[in-house]
Amino acid sequence: MSEVLVKIDNLKRHFPVAGKKTVKAVDDISLFIRKGETLGLVGESGSGKSSLGRLVVGLDKPTSGSITFEDKNYANLTKKEQRIINREVQIIFQDPHASLNPRMRIGEIIAEGIDGYKLSKGKERKETVYNLLEKVGLRPEHAQRYPHEFSGGQRQRIGIARALAVQPKFIVADEPISALDVSIQAQVINLLEDLKEQEQLTYLFIAHDLGMVKHISDRIGVMYLGKMMELASSDDLFKNPLHPYTQALMSAIPVADPSLIKRDRIVLKGDPPSPVNPPSGCRFRTRCAHAMDICAAVEPEWKEVEKDHFTACHLYT
Ligand code: SF4
Repeated sequence: MSEVLVKIDNLKRHFPVAGKKTVKAVDDISLFIRKGETLGLVGESGSGKSSLGRLVVGLDKPTSGSITFEDKNYANLTKKEQRIINREVQIIFQDPHASLNPRMRIGEIIAEGIDGYKLSKGKERKETVYNLLEKVGLRPEHAQRYPHEFSGGQRQRIGIARALAVQPKFIVADEPISALDVSIQAQVINLLEDLKEQEQLTYLFIAHDLGMVKHISDRIGVMYLGKMMELASSDDLFKNPLHPYTQALMSAIPVADPSLIKRDRIVLKGDPPSPVNPPSGCRFRTRCAHAMDICAAVEPEWKEVEKDHFTACHLYT
């Protein structure tokens, strides 16, 4: 089994909001990501998955808990270690348009990180940019153009080239295909999969629906209102979803793929409750068809129910 690259322990990110209240965007999450694997993270909007991604990249600081990358704790990094991690851990954003400076040519956007880390200069720098463009399916002449001259899918390819430019080990892909046409989504997923092999990358792949992450993920975590509800290998999760929330998400996937077991649609009642005032006990209880008295009184424990298959639900305690 490959070594652990990223380890998260009891991670919390709570934001103070008006009225002395707190949004518990990430609330006591522990997980690890092995070197070379893709961990998919799914959940509805407001589940905290992007907040978790930002913490892992170091764009935000936790309220408590710890994150380690290659055994280095984010809380105790020297300046040199911080600089290395800033290069080795990259993010690809959901909206490729908003994340590219409209006044810069593509070649300069991609070269920013190369310059910042002094990875190459002159002719070598130029060739690196051309190689990166080709690697993501664009052409060297595209280096002279501006972001508005590209389609959404091409802009996401540019975002990927920019992330690759600094030779990362780990990439957080935060809903990288959600803003793209369905016809383009598969192309970008395939590109990410190819690059993972070529560049020996590890991914945290964030998406809002399970169908999207199935093909790219080795393991999948399901989040709801800042908590992890279930975590298992992609195969186990699809064959045997344990948590009622996962079962509901699964039932909503259109069954065009014959490898998926046909399930009756489970329609969730209403929207997720406010993360400012989440339900007591199990946070999913207000929408769960199996809720029992204990679900309101006691928060379910995060447990390994089957080998490498974790969930937090009183149905399994
Ligand atoms: Fe449903 Fe209770 Fe399990 Fe929560 S703990 S998912 S409310 S059965």
